[in-house]
Amino acid sequence: MPDHRIHNFNAGPAALPLSVVEEVQAALPNFQNTGMGLLEISHRSKPFQGVIDSATARLRRVLDVPADYQILFLQGGASLQFYMSALNLLRAGEEADYLVTGTWAKKALQEAQKISVNAKGIWDDKANNYKNVPGDADYTVRENAAYLHYTTNNTIFGTEYRRTPAAYGKPLVADASSDIAGVPLDVAAHGLIYAGAQKNLGPSGVTVVIVSPWALSRVPAGLPAMLDYALQVKEGSMYNTPNTFGIYVLDRTMAWVEANGGREGMIARNAEKAGLLYAELDRSAFWTTHAAPGSRSWMNVTWRLPTEALEEQFVKEAKAAGMEGLKGHRSVGGIRASLYNAIEPASVRVLVDFMQDFERRAG
Ligand code: PMP
Repeated sequence: MPDHRIHNFNAGPAALPLSVVEEVQAALPNFQNTGMGLLEISHRSKPFQGVIDSATARLRRVLDVPADYQILFLQGGASLQFYMSALNLLRAGEEADYLVTGTWAKKALQEAQKISVNAKGIWDDKANNYKNVPGDADYTVRENAAYLHYTTNNTIFGTEYRRTPAAYGKPLVADASSDIAGVPLDVAAHGLIYAGAQKNLGPSGVTVVIVSPWALSRVPAGLPAMLDYALQVKEGSMYNTPNTFGIYVLDRTMAWVEANGGREGMIARNAEKAGLLYAELDRSAFWTTHAAPGSRSWMNVTWRLPTEALEEQFVKEAKAAGMEGLKGHRSVGGIRASLYNAIEPASVRVLVDFMQDFERRAG
């Protein structure tokens, strides 16, 4: 590893595998012997069609996407999907149910409410500052709900389902931005899945949307072209110029995932990393985890120290020791370590060793 690469625990955009970064760097001046750089070729060119086809095929394999589901590469982030999913799946006045497990889930609901006033949060853990995700018995989905929306992993609060929540017979719509391809995900059990790429899949500027036949059947006529799933499917994500560079980096990142055991490889690796860190957090009362034990995220681990002054000192000293991105989001405070696919288990060991040393000195 070049000696200027540090341990990057940022929440997103986040660490990419070094081999991917180097491969991308090499492709910049002359892509696949075209004599043109990757950033300089047409999205309508044969080499780029090869890239987007490869990215699609890899995602299909890594995520085990059913053959009759479509994969889109859009722009606008997961935040645009909050609105676009409701625009395509919901009609004014119809009901849609949302599990509100944090900031992003709440934003998804608020955007859906611009489509239908009857989009509703049917479970909300605000009173506990979002320490929990619900169990299946904690909510009921309304009889006439068009779908149930949930956020697979709550990046800010560090909670995660890591199972498919009960949908009670309704189609499931998931924002899987911060744990897609890092934990189990039963794509076939979902009507729609969307994810910003900038955590586990690649760089920012690409949003992956996985569209089921049910979702396509819901798309109304006359939507604005850029916001129409059916049109985007028909045009192969190229109604307009897509983020060619981002899709290329995503393809290379998925190639790295496949070379490292595919999703099962990532799950094993992420279980190991989360296991190491939670073992340390459970070892000493010096640390207080934010997430309730049954709701802990493997991807974003959040915890407090006895005082805010110690938290500040922790972040500062960790930075000096070569660890970046550990300051918690302001809604939780404390520390957050994001352990996405590209984070090496060795980086988590460095963090845990630092934590033990810090506690000895400060505890
Ligand atoms: N959903 C989740 C779970 C997220 O973590 C984020 C960003 N961190 C978003 C949505 C918003 O994503 P974007 O910035 O791609 O719009």
